[in-house]
Amino acid sequence: MRDYPIEKTRDIGIIAHIDAGKTTVTERVLFYTGVSHKIGEVHTGDTVMDWMEQERERGITITAAATTCFWTPTYATGDKNQKYRFNIIDTPGHIDFTVEVKRSMRVLDGAVVVFDGVAGVEPQSETNWHYADEYKVPRICFINKLDRTGASFEKSFDSILDRLTPNAIALQIPIGLEAEHEGLIDLLTMKAYDFTGEMGVVIKEIEIPENLKAEAEKRRHDLIEKIVEKDDALMSAYLEGKVPSLADLKRVLRKATLAVELIPVFCGSALKNKGVQFMLDAVVDYLPSPIDLPPVKGIDPKSSAEIERKPADNEPFSALAFKVATDPFVGSLTFFRVYSGVIKRGTYVANSSKNTQERVGRIVRLHANEREEVEEVEAGNIAALVGAKDTSTGDTICDIDNPIILESITFPEPVISMRIDPKTKADQEKMGVALHKLTEEDPTFRVAGDLETGETIISGMGELHLEILVDRMKREFGVQTNTGKPQVAYKETIKKEAEAEGKYIKQSGGKGQYGHCWLRVKPMERGKGFEFIDATKGGSIPKEFISPIEKGVKEALSRGVISGHLMTDVEVTVFDGSYHDVDSSEIAFKLAGSMALRAAANLAKPVILEPIMKIQVIIPPDYLGDITGDLSSKRGKIEEMSERGIIKVVDAKVPLSEMFGYATKLRSMTQGRGSFTMEFSHYDEVPQSVSALIIEGKK
Ligand code: GDP
Repeated sequence: MRDYPIEKTRDIGIIAHIDAGKTTVTERVLFYTGVSHKIGEVHTGDTVMDWMEQERERGITITAAATTCFWTPTYATGDKNQKYRFNIIDTPGHIDFTVEVKRSMRVLDGAVVVFDGVAGVEPQSETNWHYADEYKVPRICFINKLDRTGASFEKSFDSILDRLTPNAIALQIPIGLEAEHEGLIDLLTMKAYDFTGEMGVVIKEIEIPENLKAEAEKRRHDLIEKIVEKDDALMSAYLEGKVPSLADLKRVLRKATLAVELIPVFCGSALKNKGVQFMLDAVVDYLPSPIDLPPVKGIDPKSSAEIERKPADNEPFSALAFKVATDPFVGSLTFFRVYSGVIKRGTYVANSSKNTQERVGRIVRLHANEREEVEEVEAGNIAALVGAKDTSTGDTICDIDNPIILESITFPEPVISMRIDPKTKADQEKMGVALHKLTEEDPTFRVAGDLETGETIISGMGELHLEILVDRMKREFGVQTNTGKPQVAYKETIKKEAEAEGKYIKQSGGKGQYGHCWLRVKPMERGKGFEFIDATKGGSIPKEFISPIEKGVKEALSRGVISGHLMTDVEVTVFDGSYHDVDSSEIAFKLAGSMALRAAANLAKPVILEPIMKIQVIIPPDYLGDITGDLSSKRGKIEEMSERGIIKVVDAKVPLSEMFGYATKLRSMTQGRGSFTMEFSHYDEVPQSVSALIIEGKK
């Protein structure tokens, strides 16, 4: 049985630039939601501090992939005194972990974007904002830290308008700034409030200060115009001089926010306990419940047809695993979001991504101060499986009889590889376990064995990413390792279609070997990987030898044909061959498959691919010429040059192999005044001259 109606659920994330106050805002949210029934009571300093201390000790609240809490809106219209369930999905602040940001965007329905009221929009806020746009995440903004010296609501709000979206609208203005920051004015109701009592739990209505009346009126006027623009009926009434009712304004604003056409902006100071409760009311008023979103789409694994699941309990169960984490008390936790149906403890579900089954053991939901064991989880909710065996990040779990593969989170490809060796024999075994755990947690981290040398190769998103993982192996798993130099993860592909045969035949006395196949290779779109098709007819090759051929093909692809790198984006069809009643074996067909692949790929114009990075360099104008010149000399393509105030911004695409050590170079070229960000863009063919260097192992 469902304990909360789905329309009273909000799956949200709190997104912020590092240091903007995400942790503080989250702590306040958990505090207010935990004590909301006590609003109005006076808390002593001790209880508050105890609460915070305990939170920190448990350490689960702010680091949990998802935390559940309940909020009873006080000032939201229409829904007063009804409890809402908020599932707060953790989003990382650090830009090196774009993957984490993307993965959380995939499972949250709405977001609160927190800004520093002194700095306004910062570079990383822009990156995160673009991700939210990519996933069409409805959002509200919270301009925080208005108590800090130098805080300006106006400047911060304008920076949102200038740099993020012209559709931001202010729903509040602050009363007082810096040390005088006291409360705020709600522009929809034209009421003013201040926050008193321990942790600001007492919200009092006050008079709008005389000196702010004119500004509040003006901003309210702007706000109403922006809202009525979104609704024809309201617009015509407004043009005839009718001021829309509060309920109408909120209804239209909610609709426009859900469509990402308007973005409501709120403000306050989390540290000084001002404004957070109104922001929570706004989550209820303006951010979507799971049923406000379209049905989730996926693929039927049997027919490959596109199918849908509605966010309802009576639909077949479907859920996406979005994070695997290790909890010090219960072990491995696999966090999942249920899109449709219900998952029950003690049953079996399918892991359709891996074509396996998973027994549903214990299920837990994490709250600020406890882990709650639950019997079932319904559509729209978030919880974690304890000790799931096979399910990793991005996998779909679903009803066994009604399988679906949900659109997986698309993760960028690893672009850097590095050799890793255990220091001692004892480390060897532990290293295997640690690598396995880490790859389960992080889909952009891969491990492969080099077949020729027997070395272990790890790959990831950048030098820093691999450094952190190696460090985690040491600290969390106690594994000491030696690592090689980071290398660019080149790949190979083919440029045209070709056919070739592979024969592995040995028939000289005794039982021989006989494997023979014809393969056709065809280029596929970039990023499509590998596809294997069996088009043999009339039993030219018995069915049981097809899969050994595929194995042989995969093995050959893993080493490529020019440079020893993985060959990708190839469709391989086996269309003919022959066999021998006695001498044919799996191993013979596997070898024939490898040979045929290599022969066909060599005829199909094989080329080397390299990762191209999207970079953004931010510099004072004096250095513009030097920087763009340098990027061009690195085979970079300048995509855009723009200005941000007096600062210049250069967007470019540059091959990763040219970017090693760029941080140091940029620092010296700009006397430490330039900065840059870099992320993977795509794989592209390398020019002939570079190709030769790669083959010789010089690059
Ligand atoms: P995060 O990195 O985004 O999680 O930010 P934190 O919540 O850790 O905050 C970074 C710093 O800003 C800490 O020193 C906080 O105490 C401080 N801070 C957070 N919110 C406020 C606020 O509203 N006002 C002021 N003055 N400082 C704040």
